[in-house]
Amino acid sequence: MALSRNGKPGLLVSPNSVLANALLRSIDLLRPRVLTARPGRIEFVVGTQINGAPHLGTNLVQTAAFLLAKTARREFSIDTRVRFAALDNAPYDVVLDPETHHAYQQTYFHALGKDGIGELIERYYQAFFASVSEATDTDYAVETYTDQQATPGFRAEFLRTLERLEAIRWWMAPSHGVVHVRIPCPECGWAEKRADRTKLAHLDEDGATFTAVCLDHGDYEAHIDPEDDAPYLDLATLYRNLVKERVLGRDPDVLHVMIKGGDWTFGCQLVDGALGALDTPPTHMPIRVFTPQVLAPTGAKLSKSLLRERGPDALPADVEPWMLDTTAWPGSINNYVDALVWLVGELLTDPKHFFRSFTVKELGRLMTVRPAEPAVRAHEMGIYKRYFDLIAQGKKTTEVRVNDSSRRKIKQGSLIRFRCQGDAVLTRVTRVNRYESFEEMFDHEPIASVNPLATRAEQLANIRQIYPPAREALGVVAIGIELVDPPRPA
Ligand SMILES: [Zn+2]
Repeated sequence: MALSRNGKPGLLVSPNSVLANALLRSIDLLRPRVLTARPGRIEFVVGTQINGAPHLGTNLVQTAAFLLAKTARREFSIDTRVRFAALDNAPYDVVLDPETHHAYQQTYFHALGKDGIGELIERYYQAFFASVSEATDTDYAVETYTDQQATPGFRAEFLRTLERLEAIRWWMAPSHGVVHVRIPCPECGWAEKRADRTKLAHLDEDGATFTAVCLDHGDYEAHIDPEDDAPYLDLATLYRNLVKERVLGRDPDVLHVMIKGGDWTFGCQLVDGALGALDTPPTHMPIRVFTPQVLAPTGAKLSKSLLRERGPDALPADVEPWMLDTTAWPGSINNYVDALVWLVGELLTDPKHFFRSFTVKELGRLMTVRPAEPAVRAHEMGIYKRYFDLIAQGKKTTEVRVNDSSRRKIKQGSLIRFRCQGDAVLTRVTRVNRYESFEEMFDHEPIASVNPLATRAEQLANIRQIYPPAREALGVVAIGIELVDPPRPA
């Protein structure tokens, strides 16, 4: 039987791999960049096509983003959050021009409008995100591709890539060299899928002028300039990623970590080629984490579009209905999220388990062995042994932390689970007081309730060893705690 690091029988058996061999923990993948960039914040960026109910693979990538954000916050003492991009430029419909056979497509945004997209996000993601955000103490923001493409930063970056189009076009389109820029017809919103007749007519410091041909409305001209958010700019997948990663790479304060499904490993070679061709400096290069893929028994990625094309007979016997449409999960949303957080947490226990793929059968097996009674939902905090023991004995009734984004959610009545070396103690919050500094905090909180064994001066010295001034600048939160079900002697 395989043993995990702590000597207990392992739930998972995974072979070694190049990347897993180089890492002790999956989060270490970020360390070289965190050490050089010293960012003020880390954002975990996850993009999802908004085209109907999510399948397990989609929610797995998203859950990984939240759990990695939680782990990174603790590991690097840097505030983190998740940034969710709803890709509402996914194709809603494609038609062929009967005469020329050029393909035309309409995006979800153009088919459903801003309100329709908002409803899709609300229906399939809002409750899920709220739940996984709570379960991981991690904030998140939602934006659409439509919002992104309208920003001056995105437009300016796109125009810069046009100046170097000759250098990147074979990276973006290695088979034919034609980069797919789609500028929907101003009258009907349809655009040429493969840019057959969409041409860059003029480019100067004021922007770019494209000419294109609509299926119904004939020739039209569109001018893209860095300030104006019209007309709509739709880019093929690789090109969109190139522009987005260039924009995010310029942010001096925030390190953006792209969280991508494992199938992206192949495509990113081409994006990297283009980033190199644009002379992207090393400190602006994207950092990416590829998450486990969910595979059908054939080894192919679990795919809803394949199922739509082939019908339900294409459904492998191992696939449970909720794996393809997670709204079919037989339980509450919190129950689903707790199961996923548990699952991804298990995958993250060892890089060997995280940097690999899983068949639906194996994931199904794991889900059936998950703890029947998930632990009560609580904010989680790691803590040193000497303080853990004082809390478990009921002698420490005030816990002090810096007021980062994960602490702002803590309220009177919240539950906090303190963890230390495999032990846990559950507490309830009795009060929350916020202060500017540790000094101010000790002026108001009973010293002995923070630590009955040390003086104010000793405690201040200890706490400032844990939190450098930049962390203290976030503010200080003193949390009153009481034991829930105090441990009884055995
Ligand atoms: Zn038109």
